[in-house]
Amino acid sequence: MSSEPPPEVDGANCIRTLRLKLKPEAYAWLNAAAVEINRVWNFANETSAKAARPFAGPPKWLSAYDLDKLTAGATEYFERIGSASIQRVNAEFATRRKQVKKTKLRWRSSRGSRRALGWLPFKAVQLKRKGKSLRFSGKAFRVFEQQRLLGVSWKSGCFTQDAVGDWWLNLAVEVRLEPPVAQNEEVGLDLGLKDTVATSDGEKLEAGHFYRNIEQQIAQAQRRGHKRQAKRLHRRAARRRKDALHKFSRMIVNRYQRIIVGDVSSARLVKTRMAKSVLDAGWGMLKAQLQYKSQQASRSVFIVSERNTTRACSNCRALTGPTGLDMLAVRTWVCSGCGGTHDRDVNAAKNIRFAVRCSPSLSGNESSPSHAPPSQAPCLREARNSALTAVA
Ligand SMILES: [Zn+2]
Repeated sequence: MSSEPPPEVDGANCIRTLRLKLKPEAYAWLNAAAVEINRVWNFANETSAKAARPFAGPPKWLSAYDLDKLTAGATEYFERIGSASIQRVNAEFATRRKQVKKTKLRWRSSRGSRRALGWLPFKAVQLKRKGKSLRFSGKAFRVFEQQRLLGVSWKSGCFTQDAVGDWWLNLAVEVRLEPPVAQNEEVGLDLGLKDTVATSDGEKLEAGHFYRNIEQQIAQAQRRGHKRQAKRLHRRAARRRKDALHKFSRMIVNRYQRIIVGDVSSARLVKTRMAKSVLDAGWGMLKAQLQYKSQQASRSVFIVSERNTTRACSNCRALTGPTGLDMLAVRTWVCSGCGGTHDRDVNAAKNIRFAVRCSPSLSGNESSPSHAPPSQAPCLREARNSALTAVA
């Protein structure tokens, strides 16, 4: 393996979603506006379904453009939303309907137990800055952490409500990334059970550490029947984990040129009683983050088989390590072949790092030898996915 210097990395433009929490004084207005949005959506749903299955005449599949014509002038029936938002709803409706290929989508209910979480899309020009606040549809909005908006120009966005009932501002913004040149050549990562990652350089991340005490609070809140409190805690736990994984993947991508990850999603583990902790651990999230961040920064990610990575000694390669799930309790062991002492996870990470040199079958986003500028595809995909989850 030649140790060539890391390539010069050009910056790349990516679409990211900037998500800011709104101050509660706007909630009442947004809740009312969301009801109006639901009426537009339901009108589009009903009209499209009727057009697709008419009593007489040929069926017609209404496009966003058709819906725009049918809703022209509808703003006078609404107090809060304008024609631009109505057109955004029509466009979103037409896209979704095309995706699922159905004549009718689910209604957006405004009350009851099946109430749709609030959603209010808009075009870039509708949201304006005014001093420290934002203006939308004649109403002033203030957000937490408003300094994050400094120097940002957005393309479009939406207001969304989460399960707790809080409202968020989501803006699609273009950012230019200038990733640093990696200082180190490569690293192996062992994705363990229970939210632990070990690197072949001996570092560890315990993502669960950030929210373990929250889990107890959730259980307590549920026992007492405090539903809202439980939802709030769930949200906090999810965000802490996501944050920990983001920080970790950013650190790895900034430091290393080649990143080698074990294929943890092997059916072997999912079948066992460890399944829950494996699936919960968010390794899919971490791998996805490593992959798109690597692609943006011209790094390579390799996914290799985890076979024997725990058993083999990373010094002498003898299979002297602990085996089987019952031996999970063994955290450190001494190799009977060479006498070396190993941390179980770090040893596995070292073997994973080594595995990439033996195994010819690789998957992941290996960079081409010419080090082409990173593709924007993963950024767009990420932005689209986050926009969809924000909407859903
Ligand atoms: Zn050994």
